[in-house]
Amino acid sequence: MTLCNTSETDQSSGVALIINGLALRAKPGMTLVEAAWQGGVRQVTGASCLEGVCGSCRVMLRRGKNVTVGLACQTFVEPDIEVVFMPPSSAPLHHYEIGELKDGWDVQARFHKIFPEASRCRHCHGCVSACPKGITVEDGVALATAGRYREAGEAFFECIMCELCDSACPEMIAPAHVGLFSRRVTAYFHLRPPNLIHRLEELRQERIARDSGE
Ligand code: SF4
Ligand code: SF4
Repeated sequence: MTLCNTSETDQSSGVALIINGLALRAKPGMTLVEAAWQGGVRQVTGASCLEGVCGSCRVMLRRGKNVTVGLACQTFVEPDIEVVFMPPSSAPLHHYEIGELKDGWDVQARFHKIFPEASRCRHCHGCVSACPKGITVEDGVALATAGRYREAGEAFFECIMCELCDSACPEMIAPAHVGLFSRRVTAYFHLRPPNLIHRLEELRQERIARDSGE
């Protein structure tokens, strides 16, 4: 790969951009994370799937006056783009033990104790705009707040826990953690995914047919 700090290379070659305050030049077609590494931006984490799965390369992107967020491994270099790698979300931690839930009747009351801020959603769509996976985050939070955990869990099925939605939320709701809670309680109370139930039923039918010699 051909990327260097501009102080070390031909000023006219490649795509000029700024990453973490460093003026760099990158080969067209590089992702931002490749450009950062090749340009000497310090690595501070061992996580790096480079495929949009680990969610660790959270970046803030400025194009002129337009500021957005995304994943550096899924965003390509652009002329004059300014990129800042973001620290982990500062949304509050939510402590709970799934095993302490007595039964399904207990879940909604516990949810509102664990996530009291969830019912303060102001429907600003910030979480939806921030999500690099196209998840209907705001709807997922509303479903969980209404006690519809199975549907909320399904809404967050593709979530990679990048926590960009958490960083975007003005109410500090931590939508990613609401989604995780929803998926956990759904699994804990054995509300298994419909496709898994369907496949298990197919296998059961096949075994019955085999045992009866059909
Ligand atoms: S829901 Fe939140 S944590 Fe999950 S992928 Fe979207 S932005 Fe990232
Ligand atoms: S960012 Fe927070 S307040 Fe805004 S819609 Fe999403 S969950 Fe609601």
